[in-house]
Amino acid sequence: MAGTSNKAAVTELSPVTSLRGVGTALAEKLATLDIRTIQDVLFHLPFRYEDRTQTIPLGSLQAGMRAVVEGEIQLSEVAFRGRRQLLVRISDDSGWLTLRFFHFGAAQQTQLARGTRLRCFGEVRSGPQTLEMVHPEYRRITGTSDSPDNDTLTPIYPASEGLQQARLRQLSTAALETLRQHSIHDWLPVDLLPDARWPTLQAALLYVHRPPPDARLELMAAGRHPAQRRLAFEELLAQQLSLRQLRQDIKRDASYALQQGHELLQQFRSSLPFQLTAAQQRVWQEIERDLAQPQPMLRLVQGDVGSGKTVVAALAALKAVACGMQAALMAPTELLAEQHARNFQRWLAPLNIEVVLLTGKHTGKTRTAILESLALGTARIAIGTHALFQSEVVFSKLAVVIIDEQHRFGVHQRLLLREKGLDAGHYPHQLIMTATPIPRTLAMSAYADLDVSVIDELPPGRTPVQTVVVPDSRRDEIVQRVREACLQQRQVYWVCPLIEESELLSAQAAEETYTTLRAALPELRIELLHGRMNGKQKDAVMEQFKSHQADVLVATTVIEVGVDVPNASVMVIENAERMGLAQLHQLRGRVGRGSAQSSCVLLYQYPLSEVARTRLRIMRETNDGFEIARYDLEIRGPGELLGTRQTGLVQLRVADLMRDADLLPQVQKAADTLLRDHPEKVEPLLKRWIGQSEQFGKV
Ligand code: ADP
Ligand code: MG
Repeated sequence: MAGTSNKAAVTELSPVTSLRGVGTALAEKLATLDIRTIQDVLFHLPFRYEDRTQTIPLGSLQAGMRAVVEGEIQLSEVAFRGRRQLLVRISDDSGWLTLRFFHFGAAQQTQLARGTRLRCFGEVRSGPQTLEMVHPEYRRITGTSDSPDNDTLTPIYPASEGLQQARLRQLSTAALETLRQHSIHDWLPVDLLPDARWPTLQAALLYVHRPPPDARLELMAAGRHPAQRRLAFEELLAQQLSLRQLRQDIKRDASYALQQGHELLQQFRSSLPFQLTAAQQRVWQEIERDLAQPQPMLRLVQGDVGSGKTVVAALAALKAVACGMQAALMAPTELLAEQHARNFQRWLAPLNIEVVLLTGKHTGKTRTAILESLALGTARIAIGTHALFQSEVVFSKLAVVIIDEQHRFGVHQRLLLREKGLDAGHYPHQLIMTATPIPRTLAMSAYADLDVSVIDELPPGRTPVQTVVVPDSRRDEIVQRVREACLQQRQVYWVCPLIEESELLSAQAAEETYTTLRAALPELRIELLHGRMNGKQKDAVMEQFKSHQADVLVATTVIEVGVDVPNASVMVIENAERMGLAQLHQLRGRVGRGSAQSSCVLLYQYPLSEVARTRLRIMRETNDGFEIARYDLEIRGPGELLGTRQTGLVQLRVADLMRDADLLPQVQKAADTLLRDHPEKVEPLLKRWIGQSEQFGKV
């Protein structure tokens, strides 16, 4: 492959093995990073840079620095200090440094002989005798010739086991060489770029892989350099196109047009103890219009905690039933699924509609009976956890799929449930609900495959929750407040945190609090709820709390989503400093559902990190889910906030949805133009940025 005659044939789509020094063994390792072609190497972008253009005198080193040093080897010896290791002492005019290697071969040992000059890079630590570097990157230097890594800032690439930085840098050097010789196909028409001063694609790639020493490291670190912006724009565009393509694919399918049932829906609405808010009505109209179409609905309903999404979901489910079909609602926790099932049963039993609950807890005969009723179609609405899309579950005519608290699921799970509904070439309509409100431009990017409706109004009569932040040392005062509240016929949630992802430890912590609270408040009825209890026990406790046969519910974060007991008006959250904003907001949303003044007590323990302090302040200052989400975005970034759904988004290479938010409107426009005028450029762009493995496609 390497002969000169083949040179002209090398393009960015040639396999990595056409690069100098890449054999099949390395190619296999690269494949684990999804790097298969020269283009993949070029778009495997550095995620940070180090300034190694300055050599630091050994005498000025301090522990904690990452630095380039040069020196001559004075001593090289294998030592046994608990473990076999190679110790190399280097010096220059100003001082000493020890290099320590735990893994080393014989060849390396002879290379590192006394008298050899080395240039090293690594993190400086204090050692037993001198400062030292453990496993530094190093190179022997001969004569005075300046080394190439002195000319540019050093890029740091996402690495993997067995693929070190030095290797990745060699590789990109080779790929950049072909880029210089052959350039690269630029799929973006120039007039689509929002800024005419941006460099060309070729120049941008050369720059981000090898920024010159005068590049401003802060600008690069902040991702604000025009070369980075040029690439970020293209990446966001590719993301946008990929989601729109998913949408187009789904929209090409057929669905049953649900157009009947006006009377049944009317009957249901008038049986409710309240009127829909204007926002609920508007959103329902949008949904109803979608459901009447012969293509699948793809609609996301955003609404703050307590805005009343459940009843809107019930309307959509009922619409399916009214048209002789089935609906399924999937919730992320058993507790929430159980609550939804109870609500739906209460609402729909008078209309003679059978609602079944299916979770992992249902086994044996019960399970068989549920599955049978779904397959036969006697059960009209199924409510459950991910148990719903397991292979034994067969629906009779599933026309509407509802996903509650969407950020807890992945896009794949949603698509799996959709597959369940395939019936004679018809796919179900999808309604997706989330309480994580995000700014509009961001929503348009993150949810480009969905239509978005917003319930931007709370039901009337709610009073905002008052939040106080209290150190755990004042716990006794809070216990007394709980007592007073309960003596005034109010109910209290006391939430204990999740410990290290362990349900068992969390349950134990909750049990402990439960025991101490019982001892401190013998006159109150205190109940306990945690994830290790079985469905029946949980049900019984929830029912007791709902019907006010319990005053205090001590619980783990299992009650985080969805739980609805309007008479509960005090929420105490222990170790609030460990929780994220979204979680705190969700938990707090469990109170403030009735007309009584509600309060939320955030108990914290020292030490408080800067981030935790900020979070608690934000919680105290605002009840507005949108505002909280905005802060959350700043603190955590969109990847985490949006949850597992957008694996593609989480793995953006240069772009950052927050930082580059100003580009999003132009990204939208560019996507429109490209799809309309240059549809043939979409596929190659997706291939370049998203790769085969991450494209969502149908399951
Ligand atoms: P979320 O949007 O957080 O899922 P829910 O659907 O659980 O909120 O609704 C919260 C509470 O508000 C429930 O008790 C529900 O019955 C009640 N609710 C919903 N819509 C209205 C309304 N229009 N008027 C009064 N109460 C309502
Ligand atoms: Mg809800």
